[in-house]
Amino acid sequence: MDRPEVDLDDLYRDVVMDHYRSPRGRQELDRADLSNSGQNPLCGDEVHLDVKLDGGKVAKVRADSHGCAISVASGSMMAELLEGRTETEARQLAEAFRLMMHGQPLPPNIDLGDLKALEGVKKFPVRIKCALLPWTTLTDALDAHEHGQAPAVPTTTEGSADPIAPPGEPMPTKEQVMDALRAVEDPEIALNIVDLGLIYGIEFDESERLVKVKMTLTTPYCPYGPELVAQAKGAITSLDGVKFADVQLVWEPLWDPKTMAADHVKDRLGLW
Ligand code: ZN
Repeated sequence: MDRPEVDLDDLYRDVVMDHYRSPRGRQELDRADLSNSGQNPLCGDEVHLDVKLDGGKVAKVRADSHGCAISVASGSMMAELLEGRTETEARQLAEAFRLMMHGQPLPPNIDLGDLKALEGVKKFPVRIKCALLPWTTLTDALDAHEHGQAPAVPTTTEGSADPIAPPGEPMPTKEQVMDALRAVEDPEIALNIVDLGLIYGIEFDESERLVKVKMTLTTPYCPYGPELVAQAKGAITSLDGVKFADVQLVWEPLWDPKTMAADHVKDRLGLW
């Protein structure tokens, strides 16, 4: 597969595809001071990160990524951008990139370099995780590294503030959940479960960060039922601000494509 799955602007697509086809930072390192692996189960993306530090700065990065064009390109861009930066600067870059992917203003004096080419991905909530995967893998590694170096017994309890919990991200909207669920296709007819009209209801429980979905299947005998439910759960929990997904299969009312499916689905199924 040679194209990213989302429609990026032409100029930016070239930058992304260049990183995807010739990823930087694939060379084995002679020493790794930080190592971590990350996965994005929805898309099947995987990254293994090795970072060599020298005098408090990043000397070399190995980003061994497998997965979609967006995650591989993001890892390659990271390998290029991090060299020569301090740990603090690496965190600032990661945070700025996260902000950009969530459509928020960037802090001043931050140059995201080639990462700017991934900005168009923010229109596709399911893909944001692909773009951020190498960076969350990096910040987790930096956190572990920092804690490893922290004194085992704090000298005082009063002076050492508890780490501040990150502010809770807002839960996604119904539309964002629907967008995420569009990634799930009924394999028998190769159409997504949203356009088929299989989603009957979406509810949010803010306190539990839980999204509850009621869905049906094209037939109660659908052999892919359990797999579709698992995929739907994966799609929902991949969204920022969601911890749990509860997907319930219901059969009331029975699915009727004539009234429930989107128009292009009816076209496809010859149901006019
Ligand atoms: Zn991906």
